[in-house]
Amino acid sequence: MKLLIVGGVAGGASAATRARRLSEDAHIVLFERGPDVSFANCGLPYYLGGEITERDKLLVVTPERLRTRYKLDVRVRTSVEDINRAGKKVRARDLVTGREYEESYDTLILAPGAAPIRPPLPGIDLPGVFTLRNLQDMDRIKARLDQGVRQAVVVGAGFIGLELVENLVRRVITTTVVELQDQVLPPFDKEMTTPIAQALAAKGVSLLLSQSAEAFEQGSDGLTVRLKSGQRLPSQPVVLGVGVRPENRLAVEAGLEVGPRGGIRVNQHLQTSDPDIYAVGDAIEVRDFVTGEPTQVPLAGPANRQGRTAADHIFGLDSRYRGTQGTAIVRVFERTAAMTGASEKVLLRARPYRKVYVHPTHHANYYPGAEAMTLKLLFEPETGRVLGAQAVGGAGVDKRIDVLAVAIQAGMTVFDLEEMELAYSPQYGSAKDPINMAGFVAAGLLRGDHPQVDVEDVLAAPAGSGPFLVDVRTPQEFEAGHIPEAVNVPVDDLRSRLVELPRDREVAVYCQVGQRGYLATRILQQAGLDAVNVSGGYKTYQLLHPKIGGGR
Ligand code: FAD
Repeated sequence: MKLLIVGGVAGGASAATRARRLSEDAHIVLFERGPDVSFANCGLPYYLGGEITERDKLLVVTPERLRTRYKLDVRVRTSVEDINRAGKKVRARDLVTGREYEESYDTLILAPGAAPIRPPLPGIDLPGVFTLRNLQDMDRIKARLDQGVRQAVVVGAGFIGLELVENLVRRVITTTVVELQDQVLPPFDKEMTTPIAQALAAKGVSLLLSQSAEAFEQGSDGLTVRLKSGQRLPSQPVVLGVGVRPENRLAVEAGLEVGPRGGIRVNQHLQTSDPDIYAVGDAIEVRDFVTGEPTQVPLAGPANRQGRTAADHIFGLDSRYRGTQGTAIVRVFERTAAMTGASEKVLLRARPYRKVYVHPTHHANYYPGAEAMTLKLLFEPETGRVLGAQAVGGAGVDKRIDVLAVAIQAGMTVFDLEEMELAYSPQYGSAKDPINMAGFVAAGLLRGDHPQVDVEDVLAAPAGSGPFLVDVRTPQEFEAGHIPEAVNVPVDDLRSRLVELPRDREVAVYCQVGQRGYLATRILQQAGLDAVNVSGGYKTYQLLHPKIGGGR
């Protein structure tokens, strides 16, 4: 077997090493255009910020190690230029000498990744406008930062954009972020990004949402970014983080099928429309694990697993790629945001769903250091199957999203979340873990013993026609801020003040996070009132109606 692999980083290197473990005899050639293989793309921003101090640590495996330990024929600084499918050959070019040659294959794996998008704007090719994909990009940005930079603009507030912002601020650089959408971290639901926007504001980052860069101009002291709004932002470096585009040129020119957004089409074994050519990683179109729709998800975990699956299938195992859930996490200063499965905005287009919010602490409240988090759970109304989850907070966000990622993959329901037995002592969790809490609230909603309403639905009702809104918190909490038109009846007074509440109209109660609201709902229901709890309480209302810049 002669196996050629194009691309030597996440997907390509995983495929190559797995292939070697499965076959000592195969001739495996790994082509990589750049000088490095298997480097840590995900660590690049942290070297720029100085948190990772040794550049070599980013080189997870060297070409030499792949040659000696895995007996791989590694050819760095070598670009594969085209594929001759009929002749089962590729044409490769040694980028150092310029020599071109053909290499035959029995099987070919394409793992060329995705390239950062550089929109065709005036000035985009000016020297100070950077993108970040590999160590060479990182070195260029670092060299610019080391010259002394006072202000920078990051275009795009996605994962990589915000990682860059964090690291620029770490270097005491005044940073502005320009984002086309009306929220940061576009894969998340907007309200879940409120704490992240607030964290950026608290660190002095200017966040310009619903704005786009129109041109870059060279001035005497750096660049100026001109926005569509007319605003001009002085900036020394500009770093673009506006997304990536699959590197599909080889596939397209070879006549392989690609999807509408350019991802190379593959089956569940990761074979392209030519069964002798596999494709993995950021370059491919995948099946969304929850919706079943084709999508593109450029993440390292899927790329690594796909590399392994492709190698398995090539060497006779019946491995199948199950689809991508989009489990992702990002740290933005002291905040962490993580998600898995479908977001609400995807489900709005795709299928019926319900949602609940809980606002627990990451471990027992009484134990010092408890950090708040918001957890949003999306599930199927009929069956309770978990469809998606998002969390934002500090410590403990990662493990809750990981548990829910497993729940989604296992096809679990909110009723299973109620029953989950998770590790607990007060330093790590609560006897009722945030996962259990989300399960209780969602299951109560589906069983009907804890009826709930979304805060958006309460607010959307025309004045006078919506539910009678009752704030069951203390008068002090009510005075500090409440949902418009609410009346205050603290939960402890509710039983004695029932006469004040209407019996001919739905009563929607809310508290700070939903817990007192739940008790209030049960009191009112048992007193014969038509009562519902506003999901996630006032805290969810604040996520939807934020005061950005007002601190935490
Ligand atoms: P790549 O890792 O991009 O590798 C493809 C390689 O193919 C490239 O090195 C390229 O030079 C080579 N190549 C392309 N065409 C040819 C050719 N014709 N001939 C020879 N070689 C070729 N993901 C996460 O899940 N979590 C994170 O925290 C995270 N952080 C990131 C931070 C940054 C700054 C970046 C850039 C990415 C980050 N990612 C993260 C995304 C993750 O790195 C990618 O999803 C993953 O690397 C994709 O793997 P891949 O093998 O498909 O492509």
